[in-house]
Amino acid sequence: MKDYNELANLLFPNIKDRSYYEEKYPERKLKEGAMVVRFAPSPTGFVHIGGIFTSVICSKLAKQTDGVFILRIEDTDQKREVENGVNGIIDALRKFNLYPDEGMVNEEESHGAYGPYKQSQRKEIYQSFAKKLVAEKRAYPCFCKQEDLDEMRKKQESAKIKPGYYGAWATCRNLGLDEIEEKIKNGEEFIIRLKSMGNEEKKIKHHDVIKGNIDFPENDQDIVIIKSDGLPTYHFAHAVDDYLMRTTHVIRGDEWLSSLPVHLELFQALGVKPPKYAHIAPIMKEEDGAKRKLSKRKDPEAAVEYYSKEGIPSDAAKEYLLNIANSNFEQWRRQNKTASIDEFDLQLNKMSVSGALFDMIKLLDISKSVISRYSKEQVYDLAYAWASEYDEDLKNLLETNKEYSLRVLGIERGNEKPRKDIAKWSDLKENIEYMYDDRFLNKEQEYVYQNINDKEEVRKIINTYLEKYFDISDDKQIWFNKIKDLSEELGYAREVKEYKQNPEKYKGHVGDVSTVIRIALTGRANTPDMYEIMQVLGKDSVKTRLEKAIK
Ligand code: GLU
Repeated sequence: MKDYNELANLLFPNIKDRSYYEEKYPERKLKEGAMVVRFAPSPTGFVHIGGIFTSVICSKLAKQTDGVFILRIEDTDQKREVENGVNGIIDALRKFNLYPDEGMVNEEESHGAYGPYKQSQRKEIYQSFAKKLVAEKRAYPCFCKQEDLDEMRKKQESAKIKPGYYGAWATCRNLGLDEIEEKIKNGEEFIIRLKSMGNEEKKIKHHDVIKGNIDFPENDQDIVIIKSDGLPTYHFAHAVDDYLMRTTHVIRGDEWLSSLPVHLELFQALGVKPPKYAHIAPIMKEEDGAKRKLSKRKDPEAAVEYYSKEGIPSDAAKEYLLNIANSNFEQWRRQNKTASIDEFDLQLNKMSVSGALFDMIKLLDISKSVISRYSKEQVYDLAYAWASEYDEDLKNLLETNKEYSLRVLGIERGNEKPRKDIAKWSDLKENIEYMYDDRFLNKEQEYVYQNINDKEEVRKIINTYLEKYFDISDDKQIWFNKIKDLSEELGYAREVKEYKQNPEKYKGHVGDVSTVIRIALTGRANTPDMYEIMQVLGKDSVKTRLEKAIK
């Protein structure tokens, strides 16, 4: 064999020139500052909320900058793959209303001009890049067997030197062309390694968009770039894909930070500019005063199914994730109560370096606000969709009484201070069920009265109300005045303030009286606005309910 070109052809016959792919996937014509970002999961069957976190960030940044959000499937480790893993990922993203601009749309197909977007479908592309590296003497075939490598490792361990395939240990680096040719012709199995030019004594300075300035020793390992099955390693696929897909920012978990020296050397060997990197700290959880990563095994909320099952609207989960992504989000939301999250300006460099804490109470709180901003139709549709999957009984309730349900859901909605008592669809039934006569009236009610709990007194209040004051056609002002009149008539203060000034003068105040009516009407002490409730229930229902309560 006369030279490395010939070697490259021998190793990778029938593989196109790298320039073919560079022409096929030209630089993108995007406006200045546009970010090209990607979510690049492996189809292992489990989608961690951390993946949704990354995707929310990617999708937001792409939208914000008129860039591109790509879904790339990294399936080069075929041992870890599960059936329907890609569809699982796409479904999970869809549940959070995340629709990548380019990428896989099902197990086999994709959309976008920079595909295929599944690494196992890109084998020739990686080989083409590896081929050029071989021709340039920056990569070489390695014939070492697993036993050779194990033995080498043992030697390194007992001599207490750094393990790995590098420098003098990288034996296949020095094979002559003829030796290589012979091994290949004998059918020996090989992999392709990078010929590292790095020096561990030297430091690289790097700026990570999230972590800031960091430095670390150069890579000196001859890492594997193509495995014996012809597929690339993660490292090599990352470099080739993010170059050809013209990624501007690699946003990924910070478990990859330690691989950065390898990646930077790969970009250098390929002779192309690396993308910017933003390494995201994992979402953390506090347990017994200590912080740990949100864990797939221990924490149900780590799995995306949790959010669908509980019925936490995707808008809420997204808003919560933005909230932990940028700490100034909260302030922005306070100043822009009804704005769409699209208007928030997300900044990578404002992300937490050490990992935000997952806080369920905060998430549910945000969810209450998000739901409070929905119209009654939105609430109906989303709750109905959730119930169709998870709660047959609620589904029936909503479905058989659609018009009425819309009125129930419309209580204290669409006004200045909308009701904030619903955090998730799985709470909804409990929150509205008492509004349906067939459920409320047919159930044995336990009325737990509060300040006023003497049976005779309760009866008197309700009877007097029904006889003298109740008129469904009253407007809210008149209605409230009548409750005050009722209070006064029975010896209660018209205003809480009056009562506080002279408590000995009264039996109680208007609030105590209206609580009696509220409990008699609904079976509960806390409800949304009672006037609105009565209006939705209607005259007959109000009467029946009040009469039932004093029976
Ligand atoms: N496939 C890698 C993972 O599952 C992707 C890391 C990256 O975004 O580059 O974590």
